[in-house]
Amino acid sequence: MEEDIFECQQCGYCCQGETTVSLTDDDLQRMVDYIGLPEKEVKEKYLRISGKVIQMKIKDSHCIFFDKGCTVHPGKPWRCSQWPLHPSILQDRGNFEAISASCPGIKAGMGYERFCEILSELIKAKERK
Ligand code: SF4
Ligand code: SF4
Repeated sequence: MEEDIFECQQCGYCCQGETTVSLTDDDLQRMVDYIGLPEKEVKEKYLRISGKVIQMKIKDSHCIFFDKGCTVHPGKPWRCSQWPLHPSILQDRGNFEAISASCPGIKAGMGYERFCEILSELIKAKERK
């Protein structure tokens, strides 16, 4: 059903910039488990740590894990997982418009109401898991 409203075009927009999302403790653990290297090595190779803030390193203006798509998909931070089908879309048409303007994978052509019906079902299905 997700493919009815979104199909990633791997444009890289959401993974570019000077900084990335921050990792929670759970995110760090999931990433370490997924990459399969010792935590120290994962931190040295891939992460940028400043005080308590842990982010991913930037390479070529993108997150270090971006290479025609996310290369750590199952181990990515939860904030990455929320993009672009963010629950805030359901609360505010402005969020839908802003996100669909940034993300070419959003199938906005069906209109806001229909999009929200499907997104709402998807979110409910995730919560039931
Ligand atoms: S902005 Fe959208 S289409 Fe582009 S990489 Fe991110 S999720 Fe995929
Ligand atoms: S972890 Fe994956 S989804 Fe998140 S910013 Fe990096 S490449 Fe993009």
